[in-house]
Amino acid sequence: PIKQRLLVVANRLPVSAVRRGVDSWSLEISAGGLVSALLGVKEFEARWIGWAGVNVPDEVGQKALTKALAEKRCIPVFLDEEIVHQPTCDHQEFSVTVCTDKKANQMFADVVIEHYEEGDVVWCHDYHLMFLPKCLKEYDSNIKVGWFLHTPFPSSEIHRTLPSRSEILRAVLAADLVGFHTYDYARHFVSACARILGLEGNPDGVEDQGRLTRVAAFPIGIDSQRFTRALEVPQVQEHIKELKERFAGRKVMLGVDRLDMIKGIPQKILAFEKFLEENPDWHDKVVLLQIAVPTRTDVPEYQKLTSQVHEIVGRINGRFGTLTAVPIHHLDRSLDFHGLCALYAVTDVALVTSLRDGMNLVSYEFVACQDSKKGVLILSEFAGAAQSLGAGAILINPWNITEVAAAIGQALSMPVEEREKRHRHNFEHVTTHTAQQWAEFFVSELNDTVIEAQQRI
Ligand code: UDP
Repeated sequence: PIKQRLLVVANRLPVSAVRRGVDSWSLEISAGGLVSALLGVKEFEARWIGWAGVNVPDEVGQKALTKALAEKRCIPVFLDEEIVHQPTCDHQEFSVTVCTDKKANQMFADVVIEHYEEGDVVWCHDYHLMFLPKCLKEYDSNIKVGWFLHTPFPSSEIHRTLPSRSEILRAVLAADLVGFHTYDYARHFVSACARILGLEGNPDGVEDQGRLTRVAAFPIGIDSQRFTRALEVPQVQEHIKELKERFAGRKVMLGVDRLDMIKGIPQKILAFEKFLEENPDWHDKVVLLQIAVPTRTDVPEYQKLTSQVHEIVGRINGRFGTLTAVPIHHLDRSLDFHGLCALYAVTDVALVTSLRDGMNLVSYEFVACQDSKKGVLILSEFAGAAQSLGAGAILINPWNITEVAAAIGQALSMPVEEREKRHRHNFEHVTTHTAQQWAEFFVSELNDTVIEAQQRI
């Protein structure tokens, strides 16, 4: 049978392009959550549309890159330097990010339309492309359009502070199906449409003059087998052995985050300091490994966060370190997939303290790698993952340093039976709610939604 074509539109393509010459490019696949989710989808013939991460001003370069990307089923959108570096409308103070750049969205729409064939499903991703559903539907109302948000959708109290609050909602509502990670975010969106646009919301979605936009929760997952398989690789096992020797006699705590305000890294480290302060017995028996992947290093707020974190880490290591050991190992860099899997596997307690987080895949990945160790997950209630892993994790409010410090103590001394029980719950969830199912479920819901809408007319 002929597979349905799926056009996945995201700000960034899953490959990064590096120019090697006038007309030669090398491509590197970057395997984020979305990429691995869609790599596993066999039901559809997927193509990607997005920006390749480089500015290509000349036609020869553009042609060569388009050709190279075609082999990876990728189609580039050539944004110019001006658009890429334009400050987007960030409302970081509310942890809301919206990109109100309509011109860029229209450029994405032009590329989608150029490649669209009747019957295709177009799946738009994230806050960068909030205007895309409207651009596409204005061109052809028959295009099946879905939009998914990977970050939290704020409550209407916060959404209503945005200058373009109505326009954004209307643009998203042009889609046939709108998806979020949790019911809370979906509910926030529906109530923003009610309060700001005066549109009626119902359990299925939002209705405007007889036209229904379906709104639902689709919690993303991971390809858990990719992680369990990695743990079988000899180099990874070797690495696990080395790490175990290096940290012998100490419990390992782990944080893996982009260095972003929303991840609550200072709060996490301060809670760890409080724990050390209150528990002198633990001083040389625990180590916190914090991987902080640099992002947006050109933005002053992020530079400030970096120095703030370094300062706190330095203070704590100075205070509690000895000549041979420090309590915190802080790395300002990313790890490769195998390195990360090994770390997940040797960890006793993972610490996720996001102040806001769409889902937080790190918590899922940790659980997937813990089937022999059965370590403890301390998880912020403000991460989407708290809805699914809440029963197995220790949930905390990251703003409450005292509570987090107590959770660290509880996690480090948790009896093995309780750890096993909690781990079983989480592992069961992570291995049965995969990224592939997430993608297939979204697209089949989108197809069904369009059929139902046609039947209503
Ligand atoms: N990650 C990685 N290398 C690192 C640190 C993290 O590849 O050194 C990956 C990690 O495996 C996870 C992703 O980055 O898949 C982070 O996703 P998450 O949902 O936790 O947070 P986001 O960064 O999307 O806000």
